[in-house]
Amino acid sequence: DQSSERFRRQYAEIASLAGGLAHEIRNPLSTIRMNLQLLGEDLQLGDDPRHQRIARKLDTIGRECGRLDELLSAFLQFARAGEPDLQERDLSTLVAEFVDFFQAEAKGHQIEISPHLSASLPPVKVDPTLLRIALMNLARNAEQAMPQGGQLEIQTFARDGRVILEVIDSGQGMPEAVRRRLFDVFFSTKPKGTGLGLPTVRKIVEAHHATIECDSEAGRGTRFTLSFPAVRTARW
Ligand code: ADP
Repeated sequence: DQSSERFRRQYAEIASLAGGLAHEIRNPLSTIRMNLQLLGEDLQLGDDPRHQRIARKLDTIGRECGRLDELLSAFLQFARAGEPDLQERDLSTLVAEFVDFFQAEAKGHQIEISPHLSASLPPVKVDPTLLRIALMNLARNAEQAMPQGGQLEIQTFARDGRVILEVIDSGQGMPEAVRRRLFDVFFSTKPKGTGLGLPTVRKIVEAHHATIECDSEAGRGTRFTLSFPAVRTARW
C-alpha cells in the first residue's frame, strides 16, 4: 500500500545516502593517513622520552585511521551485498577458486583447509563476487575462532534439489547467547570486530534466495550451512 511504498522509498534513500557518505569519507581519510606518514618522516623522531611520546600518539592516530577504513569497507560491503548479478555457475568451481586464494592466509595461521567439493552439482544462480565475499567473511571468522590453528572444512554437495555449501571449523565455538545474535548488525564479541561480517553474509544469502544455518558448540567448533536452490536443467 501507499505507506509501505513511502517507507520503502525513504529507506532506499537513506541507504544510498549512507553508502555515499561512507564512500566520501574514504578519500579525506586516506589523505590524513598519507600525511600522517609524511609527518612521521619529517619529524625524524629519536629515542628521547618526548619524541617517544609523540611517536606513540602518531601510532595511535594511524591505527585508529586504519580501523575507520576497515569499518567503512565492511559497511560498503554490507551496503552492496543486496544487488547480485546472478549467473548460472558451478558452485564447486567457485569454491575451489576461493580455497586456492585463501590457502596462503590459512597456512599463515596454522589452519589446514580440507575441501570436499562435489564434481557433479547441478548449477546454481550465483554472483561470483558476492559469493567470494561471503566465503571470505565465513573463513575469516573461522580463522579468528582458531587462534591456535585448526581445521577448516569446506564442502559442497547436492541434497533434495538444492546445492549445499558448508563451512566447518574446529574453533572455540560459541554459547547460545552469541548464536542467537549472530546476524544482528554491529553485534561482535571481538575487541576489533565490525559486527558486519555475518549480516553481510546473510544479505548475500538472501539475495541468492538461499538459506543459512549455524550449528555451534562452545569448545568444539562451528558449522555454517548454506543451501541454494539448484537450477533445473535437462540433466538434473
Ligand atoms: P565480527 O567478526 O566483526 O565480530 P560477525 O558478524 O562476522 O562480526 O560475527 C559476529 C560474532 O559471531 C563474532 O564476534 C563471534 O562472536 C561470532 N562468530 C562468528 N563466526 C564464528 C565462528 N566461526 N566461531 C565462533 N564464533 C563466531
